Amino acid sequence: MRGQMMDTQLLIAPLIRNAARFHGDVEIVSRTCEGPIHRYTYADAYKRVQQLANALASRFGIAMGDRVGTLAWNGYRHFEAYFAVSGMGAILHTINPRLFLEQIEYIVNHAEDRVILVDLTFVPIIEKLIGKIPTVEAVVIMTDRANMPETSIPNAICYEELIADQSDSYDFPSFDENTASSLCYTSGTTGNPKGVLYSHRSNVLHSYGVCMTDTLGISATDAVLPVVPMFHVNAWGLPYACPMVGAKLIFPGPRLDGPGLAELIEMERPTVLAGVPTVWLALLNHLDEIGRRMEGVRIAVVGGSAAPESMIRKFQEKHGTFLLHAWGMTELSPIGTACTFKAKHLSLDQEAKYKLQTKIGKPAYGVEMRITDDEGNELPNDGVAFGHLKVRGPWVLKSYFRRDDENILDEDGWFDTGDIATVDQDGYAQIVDRAKDVIKSGGEWISSIDLENAAVGHPDVKEAAVIGVAHPKWQERPLLLVIRREGATLDKQGMLDYLETKVVKWWLPDDVIFVEELPHTATGKLLKLKLREAYGDWLMKQAG
Ligand code: ADP
Repeated sequence: MRGQMMDTQLLIAPLIRNAARFHGDVEIVSRTCEGPIHRYTYADAYKRVQQLANALASRFGIAMGDRVGTLAWNGYRHFEAYFAVSGMGAILHTINPRLFLEQIEYIVNHAEDRVILVDLTFVPIIEKLIGKIPTVEAVVIMTDRANMPETSIPNAICYEELIADQSDSYDFPSFDENTASSLCYTSGTTGNPKGVLYSHRSNVLHSYGVCMTDTLGISATDAVLPVVPMFHVNAWGLPYACPMVGAKLIFPGPRLDGPGLAELIEMERPTVLAGVPTVWLALLNHLDEIGRRMEGVRIAVVGGSAAPESMIRKFQEKHGTFLLHAWGMTELSPIGTACTFKAKHLSLDQEAKYKLQTKIGKPAYGVEMRITDDEGNELPNDGVAFGHLKVRGPWVLKSYFRRDDENILDEDGWFDTGDIATVDQDGYAQIVDRAKDVIKSGGEWISSIDLENAAVGHPDVKEAAVIGVAHPKWQERPLLLVIRREGATLDKQGMLDYLETKVVKWWLPDDVIFVEELPHTATGKLLKLKLREAYGDWLMKQAG
């Protein structure tokens, strides 16, 4: 017997329609590429979303299933594209400008983008690709006539002119909620990037998941500053989640540096921030330098890489901000877990709370999670056993875009995240390492993440990376690479003495190398593959 409730489809356009109707006066504030701060409301945004949809349909014949690419910072025009493109039934392909040029060429061709909307900053990328991306019929530069650049892009179109004469009324169609809405490629440290094709349903359900009090807990009383880019897993779904509840949105544009963020925070008073650890490090350092305290920031969401305890502490003690540790990945839309407390944790002392906050937390309802051994047997949730972290649920992918024939799920239909984790009795997971980064020392495992987090706790350390390198006796041993803070004099012995107070003795790195810089992926993660290439035989060479 079927239920007798309406089968309203879960679609993306109603999110912005609803925001315009019930939160019409709530602001969206953007720092622009052109320089000035732009502000308007959800009601204004919805009108321009409809103008853009009309323009895409009438000028380029964009229809259901067509791919429209964007190369843009977090800003109001990019936000408009999120809703116009998906709302029409076309697919928004957010291109990560930090990928190598060859990777961008590959993904534009793989996605067969028909139109690309590009911010001023990224015009040179498209200029270099002209002639190599044959499916792209039109390039729209996201600015007004006064700021249109000199460009070699043939027939480049000005965004403001494109939408200016269009009607601000567009009848967004209803269709099957499983229709594809958006496409995001993983950065991939090896091989070609792989596309994750989200659906309207997965995005709407993910937005509910994000807003839940025990996930990120976003409401109509919040002002949210997503520093995490809209070209990286849809800024963790915040451009959908915020209009769902009517939260104010603050977009940082191209200024993701400490001073730029500090200024925007002071001006716009966000209650919620979201970004990766390196961004927060830059912000905290700058606030230290200028001796300023952030006011009113309720939570700072951190994810993408592990948040060190020193950062959790600093946010709390200097700024009164709860660092909300979350975990996810492109394949998960991306939110999988969030480290919010249970009732029994509220009475813990502050030290115990900090400890708990270093975990990635419990799964948001909608994500099922388990850990298994190499054979796929489920391991106990005792906080000790560690294994392959696997997930499933309505916002987890089942196959990569245009690689439908590759089976990426295990026999029971779970997706292996590539992470190694523990899960405790309360369902709180802790990432031990990426499976490919964990250090196998004489049959025991050492977590490179834990060692890095311990190292950056030292006041002289700006950034640290730990890799497993070949060792004649132990198979692999940890090697620590450190960037010192300016003016700091920390040496190898000082580093090891400090670490000895933080980790068990057999975890201590066999050597410490001080470097000027460390390589990162397009999404700001340490590029350990490169480090292993450069230093893989470091200890062997020393052993002679
Ligand atoms: P990309 O694939 O583009 O590098 P993703 O954001 O999809 O970017 O990367 C997902 C991976 O990032 C996860 O599988 C995990 O290894 C790592 N990660 C994400 N959040 C955390 C976290 N809180 N702690 C540790 N690692 C994390």
